[in-house]
Amino acid sequence: MRAMSERAANSNALSPGWSLDDARELYQIEAWGRGFFGINEAGHVTVRPGCTVDREIDLFDVVQGLRERDLHAPLLIRFSDILVARLKELQAAFAGAMRENDYTGRYTAVYPIKVNQQRPVVEEVMQHGPATDFGLEVGSKPELLAVMALTAGEPERLIICNGFKDDGYIEAVVLATKLGRRIIPVVEKPSELHLLIKHAKRYEVRPIIGVRVKLAAQGAGRWRESAGMRSKFGLTLSEVLAGVRLLEAEDMLDCLKLVHCHPGSQIHDIRRLKDAIAELAHVYGELVRLGAPMEYLDVGGGLGVDYDGSQTNFRSSMNYSLAEYASEVVYRIASVCNEREIAHPTILSESGRAIAAYQSVLVFNVLGSTSLVSNDEEPSLNGGTAGADEEIPQPIRDLMGAHESLTQRRLVECYHDAVQARDQVLHLFSMGYLSLEERSLGERLFWAICKRAWGLCQSLPEIPEELEDLETILSEIYFCNFSVFQSLPDSWAIGQLFPILPIHRLDTRPTRKAVLADITCDSDGKVDRFVDQRDVNRTLDVHQLEAGQEYYLAAFLVGAYQETLGDLHNLFGDTHVVHISLHDEGGWWIEETVRGDTAKTVLGYVQYDADRLLPKLTRDCEQAVRAGRMTLSESQALRRFYESELNGYTYLEPD
Ligand code: PLP
Repeated sequence: MRAMSERAANSNALSPGWSLDDARELYQIEAWGRGFFGINEAGHVTVRPGCTVDREIDLFDVVQGLRERDLHAPLLIRFSDILVARLKELQAAFAGAMRENDYTGRYTAVYPIKVNQQRPVVEEVMQHGPATDFGLEVGSKPELLAVMALTAGEPERLIICNGFKDDGYIEAVVLATKLGRRIIPVVEKPSELHLLIKHAKRYEVRPIIGVRVKLAAQGAGRWRESAGMRSKFGLTLSEVLAGVRLLEAEDMLDCLKLVHCHPGSQIHDIRRLKDAIAELAHVYGELVRLGAPMEYLDVGGGLGVDYDGSQTNFRSSMNYSLAEYASEVVYRIASVCNEREIAHPTILSESGRAIAAYQSVLVFNVLGSTSLVSNDEEPSLNGGTAGADEEIPQPIRDLMGAHESLTQRRLVECYHDAVQARDQVLHLFSMGYLSLEERSLGERLFWAICKRAWGLCQSLPEIPEELEDLETILSEIYFCNFSVFQSLPDSWAIGQLFPILPIHRLDTRPTRKAVLADITCDSDGKVDRFVDQRDVNRTLDVHQLEAGQEYYLAAFLVGAYQETLGDLHNLFGDTHVVHISLHDEGGWWIEETVRGDTAKTVLGYVQYDADRLLPKLTRDCEQAVRAGRMTLSESQALRRFYESELNGYTYLEPD
């Protein structure tokens, strides 16, 4: 399917005093987009899988094209070319670091499928390069079952098995070894080693064995407890030593070939990584000294994603580049091995987030907005409470006074007066002394004062601390057609920042500030923290909604963890997922479409048998017709409606 890129050419004229560069600067697209995203002359967001402007995809054009194919927002759009680009970048970074350090071992990138287990994503990783360059990591039995089947006919593909393992998991690994897979179980608990020895003997195979070690070096980032002495994963060094002795006694020390640690996800500060890698390299060296024929040093995941583009050690960012990460890993390992005069191992890294995050974009439409403050006009001060001055209740008179005397010099004082008067209004209303009209006037006056006060703040060199929250309080709420819990769970659960911006109208100045509310009935279902180079923004700059026109926003870098962690709050299911690729002749094409969950599917997840729901409703309709509460045609209309909704998208769709 070729794109109709003429649409992109229908550019609006730029709004006065506003340029596309202003839009780029405002949303920091170049900082966090790493060249994968841009803004074109039409004011639309573009996707540049190859990081070049000559081959870019107009995202708004894609959304329009999908709409014409009856695929409506919310949409999760995956750009497979970006995934491939990230895999290449990772390989190139390690190749460069190995050249710099005269490294004689190899590097294999192992994709941890937990980060995004979707079959097309895993297949894309596998198809991309030689099996020796890209392995797969699994962390559970179901992940192992998927990977065992996916790697059929690929004996070279390295499979690393992490996670806690029971007898069945280990038996499956041993059998997979027998099947010819290059599979390495990584021992996380001493008991796993006993199970491994048992099954290896039973099936007469010599598995390659790895151990995960608990390092003294603390992990880094939000998941720093994945490493360190008190980590729930891995063996202490005494347990490793006991394991070596056990393998020796069982005549299986020749099977021990890998050592692993995972220093935590989203490492934002590179200093933490250095210590962990150096310690791990020494453990590797010691295992060599103890006689294990070691081959692999697995540095785990953790390579960060600069979600806000600030290049700092803020937790949604990272203070190092991919090249620096690779260089640090290779240099530390090479130094230890050179010092100990042992061969350089094959380095494995299990970077998940850094590989998968960039490929996916969540596009959603705005359904409407609300605001506490009128955007256009000051409140009419008599507000229907016509009467002599003395009849106006005191707190309302105080609010009128504060409104009139508000100047830049008296800003904080007038604001305090207004807060006090507003509180009195609320109190008197609750005591039954004020009418609804009076309370309404009091509130409108208060918001008008806040709005003017915020306007006056803009020309001050510094915003007074007392007034800092006004921006959020005054912002609008944009209601968006998606579920935070389903599509951006980390935003809700751990305050993860994702870059969000409009995907069109960027040639005009966004004149509104908003927080985003999703369509779940949960007050936590909102996004009110947005990326900023220096800080975290409490509001997002958005355009005024226009009647009859869709307004689309998108959250970027959502390809890692969000899909699997997402839940069914309010029974909002998976969104439509579309795989888009660059077309050889220019434009884009749809590689694969997976329609989002229907209501019937999600009801099934919570034990409703959808096949029994419709007959139940039909019976009820028949009874209503008999009792004369409904006509036959009304009952049929309801039945048809119910049936079509059961088979429909769980999100709001255009009529
Ligand atoms: N390896 C292991 C053992 C993990 O637990 C994880 C994630 O937590 C990863 C790799 C992937 O980490 P990341 O996505 O931060 O690269």
